[in-house]
Amino acid sequence: MSTVAFDRTHTDDLIAYVTASPTPYHAVREAAARLERAGFSAVDETAEWDVRPGGRFLIRGGALIAWFVPETVSAATPFHVVGTHTDSPNLRLKPHPDTARAGWRQVAVELYGGVPRNTWLDRDLGVAGRLTLADGTQTLVNIARPLMRVPQLAIHLHRDVNQALTLDAQQHLTPIWGLGDLDGDGIIDLVAKEAGVDVGSVVGWDLMTHDVQPPAYLGRDEELLAAPRLDNLLSVHAGVAALIAASQGAPTHIPVLAAFDHEEVGSESDTGAGGPLLGNVLDRLVYGRGGSFEDRARAYAASVCVSADMGHAVHPNYSEKHEPGHHPLPNGGPLLKVNVNQRYSTDGAGRGIIAAACERAGVPWQAFVSNNAMPCGTTIGPITAARLGITTVDVGVAALSMHSARELAGADDPWMLAATLASFLGE
Ligand code: ZN
Repeated sequence: MSTVAFDRTHTDDLIAYVTASPTPYHAVREAAARLERAGFSAVDETAEWDVRPGGRFLIRGGALIAWFVPETVSAATPFHVVGTHTDSPNLRLKPHPDTARAGWRQVAVELYGGVPRNTWLDRDLGVAGRLTLADGTQTLVNIARPLMRVPQLAIHLHRDVNQALTLDAQQHLTPIWGLGDLDGDGIIDLVAKEAGVDVGSVVGWDLMTHDVQPPAYLGRDEELLAAPRLDNLLSVHAGVAALIAASQGAPTHIPVLAAFDHEEVGSESDTGAGGPLLGNVLDRLVYGRGGSFEDRARAYAASVCVSADMGHAVHPNYSEKHEPGHHPLPNGGPLLKVNVNQRYSTDGAGRGIIAAACERAGVPWQAFVSNNAMPCGTTIGPITAARLGITTVDVGVAALSMHSARELAGADDPWMLAATLASFLGE
């Protein structure tokens, strides 16, 4: 009997998950905590694995791979994989972050991923991430209170701001975090103190900013969800719930959740979908049970990956930007994402897989395809399909303001996506 609820309690937990996960490192730690509560245990990549039946996961940096080995499997049992990503566009601290100008203390930042720069103006920002210490250990830190801000230039000093807003990545997005010059404690001193470590022991950091305003239900009937990082923590969270639900049934495939880092910057890293991380895990599951190359090839040939990532709902103020025959809306169920030029990997066979999973889950689905005159985003789907050579389908959830510091989606889509993924993983 499943202990996973696919209703608004799922969305309530998504709000808690997003709030606790301002960085990819927190996102995998929070995912791991949910998996551990459901009986999954951590494995160490550098140690020999226990490949007996049960739920396992591994964490590498901001990525997590989790799987459940059912009681009755052979070395050639195929995989059903849900692929997602943990990273979101944001502002990240530079190696020498302390700077000052015109009487203001500032923090030097790099832009990570496709940041709509205007959405980061006039937000109260916290700082979170990972500190690496001299003894080789790492600790996570989350300063979740208003600490800094990228102030908008007053309209009096920029009369044509509503016609043309230009935000130079180097000059105009440097947050202020107080008054004064470079005397006294710097930002790393403050972060180390908050983390409870001696700043002298900090040898490296991966720190980033986040909007501290909590997620909220929005709308006449609270049918919408306003939150940061829905792209793509909504899908990571849905994947975790789906894997837990699948582990409580009797799947005939091996269900796997892959939550990669670095999707927003092209996936080419040791924790990204372009690297060997997922393939290594699947291979170890085959060979660890005494399988041969033949078993591996058979398992891969019958495996399927569902790449879950956010998609675009039709925008009422810009509906001409969308494909006129395809106007997905929030709370219409999962999006099937199609692009014949392989920006998404979905084909007709994949459509059948998702339609069947939605039908079993009792949720509707809708199709997304770009207006031909518009560029199309992409996901880890085509990368995973090319890297592993397994059938891949792109699905998502219809949202507005994708990549904004605060995005907007339907409040019922998170659980409808989770129920669909649970149906797929539980097959
Ligand atoms: Zn995404």
